[in-house]
Amino acid sequence: MNQAERLRTVEDFVRQELIGQETALDSLADAPLPLYKSFMDTGLANWWLPEQYGGQAVSLEDSVRMVSALSYGDAGAAFSLFMTVLATSMVNLYGSPELKQKYLPGLVAHPGFCATLGSEHEAGSELGRMTTTVRREGDELVLDGKKAFSTNTGFARFVVVIARSADDPGDYLAIVVPRDTPGLVVEKRWDVIGVRSSATYEVSLRNCRVPADHALKGNGLRLLEIGLNASRILIATTALGIARRVRDLCMDYAATKQVKGAPLEDNAVFAGRLGQFEMQIEVMTRQCLAAAREWDEIAARPDAAQEFYRRGTLKSALAAKMFCGQTGFQIAAAASEMFGGMGYTHDSIIGKLLRDVRYVSIIEGGDDVLRELVYNRYVLPAANRG
Ligand SMILES: Cc1cc2nc3c(=O)[nH]c(=O)nc-3n(C[C@H](O)[C@H](O)[C@H](O)COP(=O)(O)OP(=O)(O)OC[C@H]3O[C@@H](n4cnc5c(N)ncnc54)[C@H](O)[C@@H]3O)c2cc1C
Repeated sequence: MNQAERLRTVEDFVRQELIGQETALDSLADAPLPLYKSFMDTGLANWWLPEQYGGQAVSLEDSVRMVSALSYGDAGAAFSLFMTVLATSMVNLYGSPELKQKYLPGLVAHPGFCATLGSEHEAGSELGRMTTTVRREGDELVLDGKKAFSTNTGFARFVVVIARSADDPGDYLAIVVPRDTPGLVVEKRWDVIGVRSSATYEVSLRNCRVPADHALKGNGLRLLEIGLNASRILIATTALGIARRVRDLCMDYAATKQVKGAPLEDNAVFAGRLGQFEMQIEVMTRQCLAAAREWDEIAARPDAAQEFYRRGTLKSALAAKMFCGQTGFQIAAAASEMFGGMGYTHDSIIGKLLRDVRYVSIIEGGDDVLRELVYNRYVLPAANRG
């Protein structure tokens, strides 16, 4: 499939499976939802995976276009369908050839999911305080701990767990753990307030044993930071898809709504608001594409793994997530007011879009945390950085 065909396939899927299904998508139906399989049956499962593993090697820039189209239909579905990118990027860049061969081709040949287990209740965003540990016993790694949130784990093939080394508490590892490993227990699915067609779980690890070669190469916290570059850009893109949908809903509404004896679409206040939305959507689009292009340029280098490791978190990815999360929420909030009382009911989908877009500013680091990260990494003079 070329990119034009891929985009057409995504748009057909959005029309057939998502548009008009908002009540069902918002109902926290049992996961995995049948629509995940419908999407994977289109041949686009985990579309970014390299060709050597059977994937389509789609660039992150083209992935932004696909995720914008998907999240125009439903951000939760888009989120579950691309979130595998976080774990697969870490495995692809820092796994041994044997590990990659063992875990990546299966995600395309028999389309499925993987997940990342990083966050913990006590540590919060100070991941260095995490209490999940990994210790070496003979030829095995043994994991113990509890992870607060992990998307897709309930039906994943494998997970990547970030854990503190029990043998060297200053060190952290990223370890591939098959989902059916004894001791890996899904405690519950969270009743989230938005993106409810995705599925996020609390998970325990009790004496979970995997072969020692299942650790990725490098410091686990650094690898997580690197994996988050791609997923943060795509999460930002879901705010863009939602904002485009909100704009179009406002235009439909304004064609029928009368104000002062004329259609709302002829009203100067409405025109000003929609002009503002369009300007914001343009900047969101350009930031997501630019951040993705920067990621693609690094990924294309022969020393991509080393270069990502040297650079860690990319400013462009942080800026995309913060800007799109804040702007998408502003747009959805302004639109919900525009719909009047109906905008505050479940009879209009604007409330769902407002709840959906909120996740962008919360997950993979809330804005307070990311602002501090940008300050420490990119504002402070190099000599003063921690
Ligand atoms: C739908 C959903 C899906 C998720 N999926 C995954 C997943 O797949 N894998 C995974 O590992 N995690 C996942 N998460 C977890 C998510 O990434 C975290 O919830 C998020 O990063 C916020 O971290 P926290 O919950 O620990 O909150 P905290 O870090 O405790 O932050 C709470 C608040 O404390 C304040 N705060 C914290 N640190 C600072 C600081 N340095 N400076 C100033 N204020 C600060 C801020 O106001 C912040 O918003 C998911 C969460 C949700 C809701």
